[in-house]
Amino acid sequence: GIARPGFSTAALLLTAASGGGLVAYADSAAESAPDPSQDAPRKKVVVLGTGWAGTSFLKNLDCSRYEVKVISPRNYFAFTPLLPSVTCGTVEPRSIIEPKNKDVTFCEAECFKIDANRKTVHCRSAVGTNLDGNGDFMLDYDYLVVALGATVSTFNTPGVLEHCCFLKEVEDAQKIRKGVIDCFEKASLPNISEEEKRKILHFVVIGGGPTGVEFAAEMHDFLVEDLVKLYPAIQDLVKITIIQSAEHILTMFDERIASFAEQKFKRDGIEVCTGFRVIKVSDDLITMKRKSDGEELSVPYGMAVWSAGIGTRPVVMDFMQQIGQTNRRALATNEWLRVRECEGVYAIGDCATVSQRKIMDDISTVFKMADKDNSGTLTLKEINGVLDDICIRYPQVELYMKSMHMLDIADLIKGAVGDSHKESMVVDIEEFKKALRHVDSQVKNAPATAQVAAQQGQYLAQCFNKMEKCREEPEGPLRMAGGSGRHFFRPFRYKHFGQFAPLGGEQAAAELPGDWVSMGHSTQWLWYSVYASKQVSWRTRVLVVSDWTRRFIFGRDSSRI
Ligand code: FAD
Repeated sequence: GIARPGFSTAALLLTAASGGGLVAYADSAAESAPDPSQDAPRKKVVVLGTGWAGTSFLKNLDCSRYEVKVISPRNYFAFTPLLPSVTCGTVEPRSIIEPKNKDVTFCEAECFKIDANRKTVHCRSAVGTNLDGNGDFMLDYDYLVVALGATVSTFNTPGVLEHCCFLKEVEDAQKIRKGVIDCFEKASLPNISEEEKRKILHFVVIGGGPTGVEFAAEMHDFLVEDLVKLYPAIQDLVKITIIQSAEHILTMFDERIASFAEQKFKRDGIEVCTGFRVIKVSDDLITMKRKSDGEELSVPYGMAVWSAGIGTRPVVMDFMQQIGQTNRRALATNEWLRVRECEGVYAIGDCATVSQRKIMDDISTVFKMADKDNSGTLTLKEINGVLDDICIRYPQVELYMKSMHMLDIADLIKGAVGDSHKESMVVDIEEFKKALRHVDSQVKNAPATAQVAAQQGQYLAQCFNKMEKCREEPEGPLRMAGGSGRHFFRPFRYKHFGQFAPLGGEQAAAELPGDWVSMGHSTQWLWYSVYASKQVSWRTRVLVVSDWTRRFIFGRDSSRI
C-alpha cells in the first residue's frame, strides 16, 4: 500500500485495506487446535445461536470432524434483511426462514449461562422438560462458538418496552403486520372522531438507520399501492414519521444517499424529524426533545416502531462479567475471533468485537516497529504501511473507516499529516497516533451487520476444518509475543461488499466498493438480484422470488389472520 499522489484518503484507506505489507502481530495468546490424532475421540463443539454467524459457521464446517451440538431458541435461520418486507406482507415470513441443519444435533433451548472455567454451558428448553420438570440441562464443550447476536437497546427510555414494536425477530415483523391492519380497521369503525382517526393512523418510526428507513418505505408503499384501494375513506388521514437523533437519516451511508432518501421521503409525504431524541413513550403520546434547544414536543401516535439501537444479551453480559470484560457492548476477541483470555471460546457476529484497548496497544507496537531509527517520525509512505497493518489486523477499524463519513477521516488524516502529498514527508508519530486514537474511540460504533457475521462464521469454520493441516504448516503471521513461530491461521479480514438501502417506490440506494454510489430504479433491480442470490437455499430463493412476483401481480395481502 503506497499513498497515491493527491492523497485521497479514501484511496489510501482502500489501498491500505487491500493487503500487502503485513509482517507480524502482537497477539499474546497462542491459538489452540484440536488433537490431530485420528484415534482420539472427536472434539465437542457447541454452537450458541442459529443467526447469520452461527448458520454460516455450521454451513461451512466439516461436521464429520467434530461432535457438533447447536443450541438456539429458534429452530430456524431468519434472513433478517427481508424482515421489513414481512411487516407489510411483501414477503411471507416462511419465505425468509430456513429450517435447522440436519447434520448436527440441535436443541431448541436458550443458553442462560456460560461457565468458561468448567467448559460448560447451562441451557433451558422452552419445549421439552427433563426429569426435574424444569427443562434445564448442561452441555460440556472443547470448543464453544458464541454466536448469540444482540438484543434491542431502548437506552432505558421510559415506556419503550411497554408501548413500542421492535423489528428484530420474525415474530416482531408478524406483530407489526397485524398491528398495521388493526390500526386501519380501528380507524374505519363508525363513531370515531377525525382527530382520533389521525392519531390511530400515525405510524412513527424511531431511528433513521437502514431498518427504520426501510420499514417507513415499505409502509408507504403498502399504503399507496394497496391500502388506499381498501380504505379510501381514511387514506388522507394516514401519516408516517421518522424520528432521528442525528442531523440526517442513514448516517452510515454516503451523504448523497442520505440526502436522496430525505428528498424522496419529502416528496412521498413521509415526515423526517431529525435532531430529536425520544425521551418518553406513553400509550398515546411520544415525547421528544430537540437536541439544539432542548424544547420538548409530544405527538399522538397509533403505532410506534423502535429501531434505534442494539444492546447486549443478558447471557453475554453475564459471561463478560465473569471474564472481566465489563463496560462493553460486545465480547472482545482477538484477530482470530477467539475471546480474549478465554481458551477454546470463540465469538462471532453481533455479540463480538475486536478489543479496543488492544487495538491502541498494538498500533503503538506497529509504530515502534516502523520507526526503525527511533526518530519519533515516519514518512507518509511508512504511515501508509502502518495503516495496512492496522486494517489487516483490525477488520472493525477497516469496516469503520469504510462506513463512516470519509470526509471525517480525510480531515482526521489531513490534520495529522498536513496537506502535503509527498510520500517522503515526515510525520510526527505522536500527532498521528492522536488522530488514530480518535478513530479508535469511534470504532465502538462500527455497524453490526449480517455481512460481518457471515464472513466471521465462514472464516472460523475454515479454521476449524484445516486445524490439522495448519498445525503442521502454519499459515499465519509470526508471533510478536506469547510464543515463537507462526500463528496457525491468517487473521480474520473483513471484505466489504457494499450496502443497500431500499427506499420504496421501486427505488433503492447502494454504496458499493470503490466509493461507487448508485440510486434509483435500476438500483432496486440490483437489490432484487443481490437479495435473491444471497438467500441461503434454493427453497427460500424460489419462495422469495415468487412472493415478489405475487406482489407485482396481485398486490399485498392485507387480511389479518
Ligand atoms: P443473529 O442473526 O441475531 O442471531 C442470533 C442467534 O442467537 C439467533 O438464532 C437467536 O435465536 C439465538 N439466541 C438468542 N439468544 C439465545 C440464547 N440465550 N441461547 C441460544 N441462542 C440464542 N445486516 C446487513 O448486513 N444487511 C442488511 O440489510 C440488514 N438488514 C437488517 C434488517 C433488520 C430488520 C435487522 C433486525 C437486522 C438487519 N441486519 C442487516 C443486521 C443483521 O441481521 C445482523 O447483523 C445479524 O443478524 C447478526 O448475526 P448474528 O448471528 O450475530 O446474530
